[in-house]
Amino acid sequence: MLVKISQHLKKLAKKSKAIEKQFYPSKQENKFSRKAFIDPLLEDKYSPTKGLCHKYPHRVLVELTLNCASFCRFCTRRRKVSDIKRGQLVKKDVDTMIEYVKARPDINEIVFSGGDPLVVPDLLIYALKKFSQLSQIKILRLHTRIPVSNPRLLTKEVLDAFSKIKTKPLYVSIHFEHPDELTPKTIKAIKDLRKASAILISQSVFLKGINDSYEVLEKLFTKLTELGVRPYYIYHCDLVRGIEHFIVPIEKEIKIMTKLRKNLSGIAFPFHVIDTPNGAGKVPVPLDFWKFDPSGFTDFKNKKIKMY
Ligand code: SF4
Repeated sequence: MLVKISQHLKKLAKKSKAIEKQFYPSKQENKFSRKAFIDPLLEDKYSPTKGLCHKYPHRVLVELTLNCASFCRFCTRRRKVSDIKRGQLVKKDVDTMIEYVKARPDINEIVFSGGDPLVVPDLLIYALKKFSQLSQIKILRLHTRIPVSNPRLLTKEVLDAFSKIKTKPLYVSIHFEHPDELTPKTIKAIKDLRKASAILISQSVFLKGINDSYEVLEKLFTKLTELGVRPYYIYHCDLVRGIEHFIVPIEKEIKIMTKLRKNLSGIAFPFHVIDTPNGAGKVPVPLDFWKFDPSGFTDFKNKKIKMY
């Protein structure tokens, strides 16, 4: 994966190790074990048409680009993210996706992802309009890191397009890892999104040496909730080539989450999940209130998965 860091993050990284470690490459990226995956969620296998991933019956993932404002070194999709040419889509590709969705009335949710869909605002505005006009689509969701990685890319045109979607909910899932990311510019972007009627949720990944501490996550989730962003998911880092050095032992994550559950307000506490390595769903990780065997679990298809 290429290196790309916005000016906004470069400035921030000078003051924050947590930011520096997320965006500046380390030599450890070149070391990986044989068990690490390239495409752990089997997204490429479930791609019937360019830019679209259809893995679950009622929703599809739309990857409008493989470009981002900055590239996170721990990206699960690092096998393809930053390959801008490969991910380049035009309006005709969106039209093809629309036809695919129309032919499958069971699909009721669209998830815009990437890359970061906000780095291709014109195509995003076009796709939002087209998909929101389909009566079968009841939920629109968009995953972005722009408010953190380059908040100035959240333009008035994009916000206006969000405001125009009146008849169905638009959920915007913002990717946060550390409270140092909550700069005044990022907070303004959050406020602008709220004004544009987006329903804000967050997603995070446990990252070794960055946010694997009770204090850091307590501060992050509390602050997000105060700003009107509902913490939604925190993932166990996927076993992907080049990012293994970010993986936190699951036992440590469970201890942190259990302590957070005791102290945080319920609405500030996210699901802690493992995205199963065979693409079979996000399995919730139990807390320490119950006795269980952390060496493995069963996925959505009842298949046994070993943790180590
Ligand atoms: S913003 Fe998202 S898609 Fe882009 S590099 Fe970061 S994690 Fe990957």
